[in-house]
Amino acid sequence: MPRRNWAGNVRYAAREFHRPASIDDLRRLVAGSTRLRAVGTGHSFNRLGDTDGDLVSLAGLPPTIDLDRERGQVTVAGALRYGDVARHLHTQGYALANLASLPHISVAGAVATATHGSGQAHGNLATSVAALEIVTADGDLLHVDRDDDTFAGIVVGLGALGVVTRLTLDVVPTYDLRQYVRLDLAPEALDEALGSAYSVSVFTDWRTPRLREVWRKQSTDQPPPEADWLGTTAADEPRHPVLGMPAENCSPQLGVAGPWHERLPHFKLGFTPSSGDELQSEYHVPRASVAGVLAALAEVAHLIAPVLQVCELRTVAADELWLSPNCRRDSLAVHFTWVDDADAVLPVLAEVEERLAPFAPRPHWGKVFVTDPGALAARYPRYADFTVLLTDLDPKGKFRTNLLNHYFPA
Ligand SMILES: Cc1cc2nc3c(=O)[nH]c(=O)nc-3n(C[C@H](O)[C@H](O)[C@H](O)COP(=O)(O)OP(=O)(O)OC[C@H]3O[C@@H](n4cnc5c(N)ncnc54)[C@H](O)[C@@H]3O)c2cc1C
Repeated sequence: MPRRNWAGNVRYAAREFHRPASIDDLRRLVAGSTRLRAVGTGHSFNRLGDTDGDLVSLAGLPPTIDLDRERGQVTVAGALRYGDVARHLHTQGYALANLASLPHISVAGAVATATHGSGQAHGNLATSVAALEIVTADGDLLHVDRDDDTFAGIVVGLGALGVVTRLTLDVVPTYDLRQYVRLDLAPEALDEALGSAYSVSVFTDWRTPRLREVWRKQSTDQPPPEADWLGTTAADEPRHPVLGMPAENCSPQLGVAGPWHERLPHFKLGFTPSSGDELQSEYHVPRASVAGVLAALAEVAHLIAPVLQVCELRTVAADELWLSPNCRRDSLAVHFTWVDDADAVLPVLAEVEERLAPFAPRPHWGKVFVTDPGALAARYPRYADFTVLLTDLDPKGKFRTNLLNHYFPA
């Protein structure tokens, strides 16, 4: 089991690492531990999931995938990667409504931080969760579903409420998409571009006012973008979001039709998307604030550009999940892949957060952010309810970490 996260910027401080082979073993481990956290595939960039106690991976539990065609749902083991679930579903004629930019992340870990893809009609990945099973602090196995009052608080649980063993996800009939990459978008056209297809990502590097690439993942029924679509030009060869990186790692482009799980992520399951020499941050702001957010960031573009690999702009539909950054807010997600140099990045991050403050930005829980806890709490309508839930489910603070204590003081 790795002792560091994927990016290598967090070395887990756990005194012991565990890989139970059964749910009963896991329950005994949780009941007997004084301090414990679950780890997924380690794709988070901060210490949210770190502990000085026991760190437990569920990768040794049976990799179950149970499809219920009648209900239109699939129940999966939490440690499975989205890419593996997706492949299986596709062979059975089913699909998920959306996926994140890479298929390598675990389902339980992604849902715990409200990981998202893009598409203004689609919620983040946690919104597909219809039920879940969680081992709580005393080792009990709790089943919750959409009929339970606290369900909307438990789903995006930050790993702070227990260890999620299985999740039931909504599925839809499988579908195909085509991916087109368009170049050189004017900022004034961003709003329209983001709403133009099933899932749209816009990449830029803040070195010029124009936005470098639009990745349009569209239904096969939708006609291809016209030659002069929104003043852009068509990319004539496959692209990687980061200039100079090999496009062979990326999902197929140039309008070739293919299944949803090979078009929605930017990266292929069989490849590592990059070396991990990066840090990431992301902020969700109201969808309607696109123009204001671009203008605010343009003022600090000269600070951002030198420490940036790429910036990605996406959309996420509103939901009711208490700690979802999209809670009751259609969102624009502003993502930064930084260079791997925290000393250089953190001061810029503080500037970015200050510029975005008028838009009440909600940071991605699994990425790097420096937001003041009071400010963050004020940006979530159900923050106080989550704090109560934390105390109810984990009265002795077994799943607490330094980062959690900072943002949710007991
Ligand atoms: C290259 C790259 C691309 C990314 N792309 C996207 C993207 O497109 N969209 C996006 O929103 N995010 C993206 N992320 C961020 C990533 O999706 C989140 O950080 C996600 O939480 C990582 O999942 P994980 O399985 O690696 O979890 P980990 O990083 O291992 O853990 C994350 C949190 O989940 C908890 N957790 C893990 N497993 C369990 C469990 N079984 N029960 C309870 N809690 C658990 C942990 O305790 C921790 O708090 C990306 C990250 C990388 C490195």
